[in-house]
Amino acid sequence: MNSLQNRLAPQKLSSQESNNSKRKIFLIDIDGTISEDIRNEEGPERMSSAEPITSSIDAVNELYDLGHYICFFTARTNEHEQVTREWLRKYRVKYHQLILNKPRKLSPFTEYHLIDDSPVRATTFKGKFTGFVKKETTIEVFDE
Ligand SMILES: [Mg+2]
Repeated sequence: MNSLQNRLAPQKLSSQESNNSKRKIFLIDIDGTISEDIRNEEGPERMSSAEPITSSIDAVNELYDLGHYICFFTARTNEHEQVTREWLRKYRVKYHQLILNKPRKLSPFTEYHLIDDSPVRATTFKGKFTGFVKKETTIEVFDE
């Protein structure tokens, strides 16, 4: 498979995602993750014409079909709810919930750090929604 096909073809998710005994709740960003990155200041009209990232949408729909819970968690605000839901419908994105008003990661803030008493995984989207792979890396955790 050449690199273009590789980039365009939806990646088959791993058996780990297929295991329904490990159903997960996915909190997934919208702008820059499943759609072209639109800033809130660009307004609802611009959001309605945002280009989809079809490989991401295919992967999200596959997670949905596997029984996982799909929640879009976005810094879009209440005024963007209708255009966002219409865009999700237009591109046949499967989801259970939409949460708006995520705090915006504007300067001086540089990242999100989720703290929860439930097990948490976090994956930074870098342009390609592949299956998940195990990698050794260094993360910050509480000192137990
Ligand atoms: Mg984003």
